[in-house]
Amino acid sequence: MHRPHMAWINITERCNNRCTYCYAKNSLHERRKIIPFDEIKKIIDKLAQIKMERCILMGGEPTLHPNIIDIFKYAWDKNLGINLITNGTRFADEKFCTEFKKVGFGAGSAIFSMHASSQADSYVITRNKMYFKLF
Ligand code: SF4
Repeated sequence: MHRPHMAWINITERCNNRCTYCYAKNSLHERRKIIPFDEIKKIIDKLAQIKMERCILMGGEPTLHPNIIDIFKYAWDKNLGINLITNGTRFADEKFCTEFKKVGFGAGSAIFSMHASSQADSYVITRNKMYFKLF
């Protein structure tokens, strides 16, 4: 039987960037809504029930959700793969990385958006001094 492949969940409208090109700039930031963890658990339960392969967490910036680590743990426990679409800025924070590492991505993945190879150029686009440096 065909297994549903992918669901997208917009878990928050919060974002720490102010990208000049933002696709959602009219709805982001001001309302700063998040989906409460209890509601996300219900969504994950439903996805697990229909044997969804994976879900994609997005926003806003999904790593700003106060329960992002719990969401990963909960999904892993339900055998649901997770992909993360992130601006990557929170991964510049060592403490956050350490917490995240304890949970791990498992079979999931993260898609980072990087706009420039220097903090100064990145700031022009994102208006955020947090900068995820790869090299
Ligand atoms: S990181 Fe994404 S959601 Fe946040 S301001 Fe930039 S384009 Fe918009």
